[in-house]
Amino acid sequence: MSFDVQQFRQYFPYLQSADAAIYLDSAATALKPQILIEATVQFYQSAGSVHRSQYEEKQTALYEQARQHCAELINAESSQHIIWTSGTTHAINLVAYGLLSELKENDEILISEADHHANFVTWHEIAKKCGAKIKILPILDNWLIDENALIQALNTQTKIVALNFISNVTGTEQPLKRLIELVRQYSNALVLVDAAQAISHVPIDLQDLDADYIAFSAHKLYGPNGLGVLSGKLNALTRLQPLLYGGKMIEQVSHENIVFAPLPYRLEAGTPNIASVIGFNATLTWLKNIPFQAAENHAIQLAETVKARLAHYAHCRLFNSPQPSTIVCFVFNNIASADLATLLAEQRIALRTGEHCAQPYIARLGQSSTLRLSFAPYNTEQDVNAFFTALDKSLSLLN
Ligand code: PLP
Repeated sequence: MSFDVQQFRQYFPYLQSADAAIYLDSAATALKPQILIEATVQFYQSAGSVHRSQYEEKQTALYEQARQHCAELINAESSQHIIWTSGTTHAINLVAYGLLSELKENDEILISEADHHANFVTWHEIAKKCGAKIKILPILDNWLIDENALIQALNTQTKIVALNFISNVTGTEQPLKRLIELVRQYSNALVLVDAAQAISHVPIDLQDLDADYIAFSAHKLYGPNGLGVLSGKLNALTRLQPLLYGGKMIEQVSHENIVFAPLPYRLEAGTPNIASVIGFNATLTWLKNIPFQAAENHAIQLAETVKARLAHYAHCRLFNSPQPSTIVCFVFNNIASADLATLLAEQRIALRTGEHCAQPYIARLGQSSTLRLSFAPYNTEQDVNAFFTALDKSLSLLN
């Protein structure tokens, strides 16, 4: 299927506004399509909640349809394995705290240098609470996890392996299927995949991947803020202790005894984020008609063009992923990234600078900060040219 970028841009109100910036920060959060906004407004123009009362039938159906769409999106075994969270961070914490009572002193938890703080910090905190050991897998000079180091790190004490699928810093995709095969071969550990970036860039087949848990955020996939998903295998999800207790996560409550509801409700205490779920349902329905791979190829091509052009700039250092990707991570050795970002922002280039919530990764790159452009299918060659015009002007002011 071919991809028409001009047609695609029409879906996004932000891009129609006269004062829209050149948006090159989609790895932080994607722009929102009109269809999501309309579905959210429609919900707020209606009355009630979901799963509480007979008159809420329509909303409840849309709410549960979103679960079904998510299950299809990642090939989860069942929509009952889709647990709504507030985002990837919440989903990882749900797993970490849900397993805390199982973890003991000297158990081992493996994470990597490539991880976002959502994974890195959470497991460190859990390790402190239970006395487990954190092992940090090194990444090689091509930013891939060192497989030999993984094999050496795995043993009978390894209880959790929690890894990033695609990096938000360099866009590097880890060969997760292979890494998970190694985990299975050398340990009995549970595997958690942080798919916050991957969800909008690669087709995910949870069953084929053989991960126990997977976490992602809706807002990276043209969805609403404040919504995410935890999914995984039935056994892995069932063994999680709930993080929150309260209404709707129970089947029966008496003075003497409390029986929890089955999945997914057991892990979803309280009134859920209904508007966002219904909005995401609209996004996921719309996405089915978007040629995902052709759209992704378009975004990759733009990013690769930028990398090729930047490579000709004096003092520019690129941190390229081994595969083509939508992220361009770079610094100018003679200029502070924040200064350059400020001048670019003044020229309405929306990009990201800093540590990207991944300080260990940035340290591994030998930097204290980098600039990051992240492309999405709504970006155009004009965006690329606008970036270079603004860059040239900024460099002439700074040099
Ligand atoms: N993991 C990765 C790789 C990310 O890129 C992000 C967000 O940037 C997160 C985790 C955290 O996602 P959220 O802030 O939506 O919970």
